[in-house]
Amino acid sequence: MSKIPRIVILGAGYAGIVTAIRLQKELNYNEADVTLVNKHNYHYFTTHLHMPAAGTDNPKHASVNIPNLIDEFKIDFVKSTVLEIRPHEQKVILEDGNLNYDYLVIGLGGEPETFGIPGLAENAMNIRSLNTVNLIREHIEYQFAKYKRDSSRTDYLTFVVGGAGFTGIEFVGELADRIPELCKTFNVDPSLVKIYNVEAAPTVLPGFDPELVEYGMNVLKEKGVTFKVGIPIKECLPDGVVLGNGEEIKAATVVWTGGIRGNHLIEQSGFEAMRGRVKVDKNLRAPGYDNVYIIGDCSIIFNEEGRPYPPTAQIAVQQGETCADNLVASIRGGSLKEFVPSLKGTVASLGKNEAIGLVGTMKMKGYLASIMKKVIDLRYLFVIGGIPLILKKGKF
Ligand code: FAD
Ligand code: NAD
Repeated sequence: MSKIPRIVILGAGYAGIVTAIRLQKELNYNEADVTLVNKHNYHYFTTHLHMPAAGTDNPKHASVNIPNLIDEFKIDFVKSTVLEIRPHEQKVILEDGNLNYDYLVIGLGGEPETFGIPGLAENAMNIRSLNTVNLIREHIEYQFAKYKRDSSRTDYLTFVVGGAGFTGIEFVGELADRIPELCKTFNVDPSLVKIYNVEAAPTVLPGFDPELVEYGMNVLKEKGVTFKVGIPIKECLPDGVVLGNGEEIKAATVVWTGGIRGNHLIEQSGFEAMRGRVKVDKNLRAPGYDNVYIIGDCSIIFNEEGRPYPPTAQIAVQQGETCADNLVASIRGGSLKEFVPSLKGTVASLGKNEAIGLVGTMKMKGYLASIMKKVIDLRYLFVIGGIPLILKKGKF
């Protein structure tokens, strides 16, 4: 009797959880032995993290327990941290054991890219996981409390967000919304609070529609955000940042949203990578390893003009679906599908009831765009958990 193939999925983010859920739907019992490994027992919605980071939403709205999403008769869930991947040995080393595989799916997500900027790794915070955003929220609240004890320290009320890509923009929108409440709670004059969003490129949201960028900047400026555009952060100190033009901003809070790279385990495991991301083949497999799929932010794919697609949840979800189909095809001796992303558009929140978006060729802004953002979030909940998850976690 031939043995059942072992599939190991690393990471239960957008890419990994969708792969697991699709596999459990498509595979028959005993067709494969599937194990999903994740360092927490919950799946978190990275796309919501700017809200709990600023404290405008409860972190419990940004996660769901993994056992609630999977059929544990079909998928073994292992809560553990991956320490090492050994593709030559078809083995994964976890903090508390090893796993052998016939097929491996790597969906371990991204990490902040610091570009070697001195002091960033040590002194700046990042919007990456529930733990990192809980830290940011508590840190922000603590600065207000500290200011009440020493009102000469206006740097406690100064917030620098480095990078005005989508993460930076979404976070400053929420932060600006949270400030009035914090000022009220701590009885602080709102005019003393400063939020700086520093962007190295000549424009915020580089590459996005200029009309929507202008609208977004105006909304955020109205809320009290100061943009410093065309100036990079050159150094991050324990008490602020130094900019490329020599200006120093004293700030007790620096949040780095200057970009991401693939998980460090990718390069450590010997995969050829560009900033930690592997250029996968058309079927999403790692070069040289027909049994290793790399998806989500750990992978990099290119459009017809040879330009990389940005790492997004939208692409991670679609890759998860194709990856699952290809695993099933491999097991059944079928042919593999080519992955072609189907981009629906981009909608970025600017805080409560405000957003900008490009959906197909349609530009959206204001309240309508914020509704569209909610629809996109609800659609994702439907994909992974159907109506029950929408009712439990959806925001209407
Ligand atoms: P992730 O979703 O990051 O999942 C990786 C998983 O691996 C996590 O569960 C993590 O805990 C686990 N893991 C990591 N290391 C280990 C380890 N060593 N051992 C075990 N488990 C491990 N994209 C959009 O398309 N639309 C948006 O609106 C949008 N908004 C965003 C807002 C913010 C604030 C941020 C930061 C990103 C946003 N993105 C958005 C980008 C999107 O979130 C990512 O592209 C997406 O999360 C990538 O999915 P992934 O599965 O590759 O990684
Ligand atoms: P990003 O790479 O998209 O943006 C980082 C920004 O930081 C860039 O504008 C870059 O010019 C700037 N930067 C880099 N170095 C700098 C420096 N030294 N000083 C100042 N600015 C500097 O990263 P992100 O915003 O974290 O987004 C990551 C991915 O997640 C992207 O693919 C993005 O599309 C996606 N995302 C999507 C949404 C959405 O669709 N609503 C929201 C958040 C993130």
